[in-house]
Amino acid sequence: MTINIILLGPPGAGKGTQASKLVDERGLVQLSTGDMLRAARTSGTEMGQRVAAVMDRGELVTDEIVIGLIRERLAEGGKGFIFDGFPRTLPQADALGRLLDEFGMKLDAAIELKVDDDALVARIVKRAEEALAAGQPVRNDDTPEVFADRLREYYKKTAPLLGYYYAKGDLRQVDGMAAMDQVADQIATVLSAAE
Ligand code: AMP
Repeated sequence: MTINIILLGPPGAGKGTQASKLVDERGLVQLSTGDMLRAARTSGTEMGQRVAAVMDRGELVTDEIVIGLIRERLAEGGKGFIFDGFPRTLPQADALGRLLDEFGMKLDAAIELKVDDDALVARIVKRAEEALAAGQPVRNDDTPEVFADRLREYYKKTAPLLGYYYAKGDLRQVDGMAAMDQVADQIATVLSAAE
């Protein structure tokens, strides 16, 4: 059975990590708007150049751009999607609902990874250190200063989605502070209930 889920939570909550596990273990398709935007920057597309400065400030790019990226990807099809870092605003959540309808799909759950802010800052510092140690590029927005702005954007624009999905009966919460495998187990439990 196909399953479509949203991973919700502040930056550094572990959405990307859990999404990759689900890709490996269940063959779901990870749709990360952050990855798509970074790819657009790297390949130097006009859109990529336009969003670069906004991303480096830790602000959100326009709804229109990310909705366009998701629409293109959904049109290609797939056997089940994990939305990672999308939607991030109420208009994006409405747009996703319309897109799923249009493509004859439905949302099975919006899973919130609950974490505390201090732990997030520690994680982001660690992510930057690990990238450096592995000789990989450090994300421009993984500095403590920009991270604080990303967190503010989250509380201002994305946190209202928790109420939005709760009201629809779609919100499920997992303890994002648990060890990675335990978080994955909790997500698996949510998924089996949805299947
Ligand atoms: P992420 O990799 O999900 O942390 O995203 C990195 C950056 O890309 C964010 O700080 C935003 O600038 C931008 N971004 C990613 N997804 C979205 C979205 N759904 N809406 C607006 N901006 C986004």
